[in-house]
Amino acid sequence: PGAAEGIPAPTPRAPVAVPPDGPPATDPEIVALMADVRALRLLGDVERLVGFGTRHALSAADDPRRGVGAARAWIQADLERSAGAGGAQVQVELEPFTLDFANRRTTQHNVVATLPGIGTPKRLVYLTAHYDSRADDVADGAADAPGADDDASGVAVLLELVRVMSRRQWDATLRFVAFAAEEPGLKGSRFHAPAAAALGLPIVAVLNNDIVGGTAGAAGQADAARVRVFSADPDDGPSRRLARHAALVAARYGLLEVVVVPRADREGRGGDHQPFSDAGFAAIRLIAAEEDMGRQHNARDTVDRIDADYLGAVARLNLALAANLALAPPAPAGPPRIAVAADRPGAVRLAWDAVPDARVAGYWVAVREAGAPLYGRTIWSPAADGLVVDAVGAGARFAVAAADDHGHISLFGPEAVHP
Ligand SMILES: [Zn+2]
Repeated sequence: PGAAEGIPAPTPRAPVAVPPDGPPATDPEIVALMADVRALRLLGDVERLVGFGTRHALSAADDPRRGVGAARAWIQADLERSAGAGGAQVQVELEPFTLDFANRRTTQHNVVATLPGIGTPKRLVYLTAHYDSRADDVADGAADAPGADDDASGVAVLLELVRVMSRRQWDATLRFVAFAAEEPGLKGSRFHAPAAAALGLPIVAVLNNDIVGGTAGAAGQADAARVRVFSADPDDGPSRRLARHAALVAARYGLLEVVVVPRADREGRGGDHQPFSDAGFAAIRLIAAEEDMGRQHNARDTVDRIDADYLGAVARLNLALAANLALAPPAPAGPPRIAVAADRPGAVRLAWDAVPDARVAGYWVAVREAGAPLYGRTIWSPAADGLVVDAVGAGARFAVAAADDHGHISLFGPEAVHP
């Protein structure tokens, strides 16, 4: 039924090579859920959010039609509709916090929807965006601030994925957070992320969507085939590893190509993923491949920026990433051990500690050649000891992920470097 609403099928690509003794590259159930993502429903959500005129943190909190209060109430109501419609239980809550900004003290509210997981040990996968917007003057709560791409687009992804993903139960808990007061300095996520760390919440991944609906750049160039993923250093840290994992899963499912940009965000800019990576969690920002900064943070960030099919493709990518991680076994805790294979020149022998989880059917070993941004080869190994990898260059890095029989692949553990 997706095609009737103008959703193109994912671009066919060469299938990812899987060994005859290994699990499939994709899970058919995740593919089926991706087909339920509706581009026009996403566009409709962006239009509704833009229709509040401004969602500035200091805009009206109590006007039923215009301002941040009306927008927040609509988001909450939409999530509660999904909670009632889906087969699984969804809890919708407001998370209040105090904002001191531009000589005013206000109460802001993150909107949090939680789909509790049924697996043990408990794990959480976060999908996030921000619902506030801003005008040229960051302190002006009265001016029009449509914020279509920044970031009604990201909120629309959350709302759509709550609809689609609440139709079944997941092993990990899925948490969807529409943050408030991002524009005054990441205030909603700076409130939430340290508290989550203090509680010891086992968050395995944070996927932050901010400016994900437009394909056009400032000079008229367009890119509807790729998405950028930003992640904080270090290069073998949890956030960068999540970015590489996103590229790998996107390729397996034949989705938008993930461009891993090895820095926390664009020059001089930031996003709600950063308080999470600062707190030690694996967190990435998804953002369109092209953007037009002349049409951000002003009255020109309008709905005509949005390419509904592209926004649908970003939503499907989020679904695949979150669903895979919500069903995959835990990641290996440590790097593999490396020994030079004396009997085979140019080869190394790898071993690692088995992941103690009954679902584990084997392991994917990724090789990242020196200087390469992404994992290159991935090699299937049913057992945790004695994999021999041939033709490795000096400085090559190796990492291991656990996999089950259904094509679900964990995050890769830390890398070991070829001596
Ligand atoms: Zn933004």
